[in-house]
This record gives sequence, C-alpha cells and structure tokens, in this order.
Amino acid sequence: MRQAELRREKNLSRNVLIVDDEPLNRALLGRIVGDRYNVLYAADGKEALDVIRENKDVLSLVLLDIIMPNMNGFELLAVLKGDAQLSKIPVIVLTSEKSAEIKSLELGAVDFIPKPYDMPEVILARVRRSIELSEDRNIIRATEFDPLTGLYIKEFFFEYCKEYDHYHPDEKRDAEVVNVNRLKTINELKGREFGDLILKTIAERIKEKAEEFGAIAARCDSDNFYIYTKNLPDHEAMLKDLSDYLKQKTGSSKISLRMGVYEDVDKNEVIEQRFDRATIALDSLKSGYSSVLAKYDSALHDKELFGEKLLGEIETAIEEKQFKVFYQPKYDVSGEKPRLCGAEALVRWLHPEHGMVSPGVFIPLFEKNALVQKLDRYVWKEAASQVKLWKDKFGYCVPVSVNVSRIDIFESDIESFLVNLIKESGLSTENIHLEITESAYTDDSSQLIKTVETLRADGFKIEMDDFGTGYSSLNMLTKLPIDILKLDMAFIRHMTENPGDRKMVKLVVDIADFLAVPTIAEGVESEDQLTILKDYGCKIIQGYYFSKPVPADEFEKFIKNDNCR
Ligand code: C2E
Ligand code: MG
Ligand code: MG
Repeated sequence: MRQAELRREKNLSRNVLIVDDEPLNRALLGRIVGDRYNVLYAADGKEALDVIRENKDVLSLVLLDIIMPNMNGFELLAVLKGDAQLSKIPVIVLTSEKSAEIKSLELGAVDFIPKPYDMPEVILARVRRSIELSEDRNIIRATEFDPLTGLYIKEFFFEYCKEYDHYHPDEKRDAEVVNVNRLKTINELKGREFGDLILKTIAERIKEKAEEFGAIAARCDSDNFYIYTKNLPDHEAMLKDLSDYLKQKTGSSKISLRMGVYEDVDKNEVIEQRFDRATIALDSLKSGYSSVLAKYDSALHDKELFGEKLLGEIETAIEEKQFKVFYQPKYDVSGEKPRLCGAEALVRWLHPEHGMVSPGVFIPLFEKNALVQKLDRYVWKEAASQVKLWKDKFGYCVPVSVNVSRIDIFESDIESFLVNLIKESGLSTENIHLEITESAYTDDSSQLIKTVETLRADGFKIEMDDFGTGYSSLNMLTKLPIDILKLDMAFIRHMTENPGDRKMVKLVVDIADFLAVPTIAEGVESEDQLTILKDYGCKIIQGYYFSKPVPADEFEKFIKNDNCR
C-alpha cells in the first residue's frame, strides 16, 4: 500500500503536456491523465513549443494532436527532433488516421493514442509505459558501469541514490567515501595491475555486503568509493571489514583504507553535496597514518560554511588589498656564519571581520575553485614590486621565492605573464624563484614538465616544495626540471626524537646531492634541528629559528643585518 501511494505521489510530480486545439478533447484527455499526472495544456503547436521550452527539464511526456492551426503536430515534431535538448522528451501522437502514424514515427513519436478516447485504462497504460521507457533510456544513456569494478560510475550512482530516496523518503541514510591511501604510489611501486586488483577486491566486498548495508555504491575519481548505505551503527566495523578482506585477498598488509562519513544525511541537501561532506570528512584526515576514519561533524560544518563565505569574498578582498604578502628569510648555513640568501613570499588574508586568516585555510579552497590563479598573480606582482623597491633602496636584493599552484602552470599564458612581470618590474628572472609543490609533479604531468622547463630556460630557479610528501620515485626525480629541493616540514618536526625522520632527512640530502642541487630545510625551529641539518649537509635553512614570516618593512632589518655584503 505504501509503495503504491509513493508511486502515485511520484507520478503527480511528473508533468504531461496535452496539445490539442479542440477544448473538449483537451478536457477529456486531461481528466483521464490528470488523475495520475500533473497536466499542462497548449492549444496549438506554437504555444506548445513555448511551454516545452520553458519546462524542458521537468516535462515527462507530450500528448500531441496532429491537425492544429498555427503550427501543426508534424511541424512541432520536426522542431523537437532537431533540438538536442528537446528531442529527449517523449511524444505520443493523438490521431484518428492510420496514415499519420508512419510519418509521426519517422519524426520521432514514441507511440499513438487513437481518437476517440474511449478506453481510459489503455491510454493511461500507454502514457505510463512511454514515460518509464524514456526514463530508463535516460538513465542508461547517462550510465555505464565502471568497467574495472562493475560498480556504478558517479553520475548514474547519484541518479540511483535520488531514485532510492524518492521511494524511501523517511529512511535514515549515511554517505561514505572510502579512499585507498596512496594508490598512485602503489601503482608506481607495485605495478598498475596490483593497483587494479586492490580496487576490484574492495568492490567485490562492497557488492557482497551491499544487501546487509542497504548499499548503493560507485567508484569515483579513480581511488575513491562512494557508498550510500542505511544508517549504520558502526562505521569502524565496516571499514575494518573492508580492510581485513583486502589483506586476506591480496596478501598485503601495507595497503591502508581511509573513510569519510556523513552520517544520517540531511535530505534537504542535494545528493552531490552529501558526498562532498563525506569527502570533507575524509580530507580532514590529512595524510597521517594514525586515524583512518572521520565523521562530518559540526566543527567541519562550521569550517565548510566559513570556506563558502571566504570564497564569496575573494574578489572584494583583492580589490581592497586585504591580502598581504609576508616574507620569511632563508639562510645559507654552509659557511661559518649564517648568511641571508633568500626569502619566501607567503600570503596572509587580513580579513576585516576574522582578522589574520592563514593561507593553510584559504589556499586549498581557492585551489579547488581555480580562484587561486587570481590570488597568486596578485602575490607575484606584489613580490616583484617589493623586490624592485629593495633593490633600489639597498642596492641589492636576495631572490624571493613565490608559491606556484599546480593550476597556475596549466594556464597557457603563465610564461608570458611571468616574463612580462619581470620586465615591467625592472628585474631579471633570477630575482624571483618559483616554488612548486612536489605533489604537482606526481600526476601524469608531461605538459607541466614542459612548461617548467620553459620557465627554467627563461632563467627562473625552480624549487620543489614540500619534498617527501608527494612520493616521487627516484626514477622520476632525475627527469624533473628542478634547481632546489625543499624538504617538507613534517620530517623536521620530530627529527630530533625520531630516528626514522632523521633517516629520511639524510636520504633527501643525499638525493639532492645526487641531483647536484642544494637542499632547503623549512620549519626549522630549534638549535638542535639546525645542528643535525648542518651535519647532514643541508645548505639552506628557513624557519622560526631565524624568523617567522614578517611584513615587508620588518624584513628590511634582515637585509640591513646581512653584514656580509
Ligand atoms: P609552504 O610553501 O610550504 O610554506 C611554508 C609554511 O611553513 C608557511 O606557512 C610558513 O609560515 C610555515 N613555517 C615556516 N617556518 C616555520 C617553522 O619554523 N615552524 C612552523 N610551524 N611553520 C613554519 P603558511 O604561511 O601558513 O603557508 C602555508 C602554505 O600555504 C604554504 O606552504 C603554501 O603551500 C601556501 N601558500 C602560502 N602563500 C601562498 C601563495 O601566495 N600562493 C599559493 N599558491 N600558496 C601559498
Ligand atoms: Mg612554499
Ligand atoms: Mg613547503
């Protein structure tokens, strides 16, 4: 009974357009169909076309008379057929002449209803079947199963979830995203086949458990699984089950799975947003090994809202110069006395309401929305004019490194922009270094490498930032265009007490030696750290030990103090 009611409700949300110039026919048909569907009317082809255009996304079916003034049924069919968007709406032709049927079919009609309308049940059955067929076709068109895992692909998955919700509006549901940690590295180290085996095995287990969990599942963005389940009592258990199964089937205990959960979803949110939230929870795990499951909670919700607010404010913030560029000195420690040898430009948002907002908060947001290009170019300009100012004031200036996002490098005019900027600022390319994060290189990146090579040929020095987090293979490293390796802060942080991190630092310095480039250690805070790094042969140090990032005027004291010049 409940199902039948739901179906009725669902039908009532579907719109059927009746096109007939005869008022009596319209009313008659409207009465038959109107019991099950929401009915719209038009009295001729022209009027019908307007209604169709206006409702193209919500119209389930058109019932079309042939002989009408203004624009007849055939003419309208021809227009619909010629329009990619409108041709998807099914049309049933209303006719009393057999001869009209063939022509209508040729023009794309899906069925006929003979006049007069003496069998309401038959009419309703045809209407329903045409709508179902068309909806199935639409779903199939948008669908394909992921050929590797046999799970749904994202678009179809979302459709299916929506459909499910429609029939189970009161059921509590959870959105889960399961991620294979570092699949890219696994592919690189153990081969793509092994990576595929992992994905297939996880999918296999999800399918086995689908009924128990009431799950609909998809593989998305290569290394994620989206799962829409009933409200589960224990997500840890679900994740453990998947991990154990994976271990048992692949014989490897080194693969780790991570999971983001948006529990008891708010059904007022669209389905895509529910999985965005599960993804936000997943991303909150960072790259640590210790925690493997996170739930979307009120803290993440507040963060999401804050992020949305910031995104809406960036244009004004740039116009009003709310972004400030700070500078952090880099010191060459290879000699007896540390010497100032560079600076990194780091942006801060001096927000009128929220005070100083850290780039760690807004850069990742802007990177997702490609807004980062605008901000970065602004920072580069600011940095370049600052360097010129110092050059004029002090007669020399250390090179300033600016951060370059992965997205920036794919802008076709990045080279001309930077070269022009240098020219216009009255500088030369060696005055500005470019920091590119290691992870930017790890995706298939031949275009990126080409661009970076061009920039290097122009004279820019390329620093590979956050080295050690992107998992480049040695083989790959030798091919990358880089001039300096910047060791990620994470290894420095616990280096004094953790021998593993010390080993990593040593290894990176050795790699840099092998590549014949210097190493920069960033995030150096203590004398102990400095001593070890010097001992290992690390040449350049950046960190609170020397100074925090400071505004340009404060930075001048480092230039003045640099008494070696
Ligand atoms: P990054 O490029 O790796 O920059 C180094 C970060 O480490 C900076 O954080 C810096 O303030 C911080 N840091 C330096 N020394 C120490 C230390 O001794 N201890 C600790 N705990 N931290 C230290 P910040 O300024 O918050 O920037 C975070 C990240 O935001 C940067 O990481 C960079 O990836 C990004 N970023 C900053 N400015 C820009 C920009 O203009 N454009 C782009 N695309 N990204 C930027
Ligand atoms: Mg940097
Ligand atoms: Mg860094």
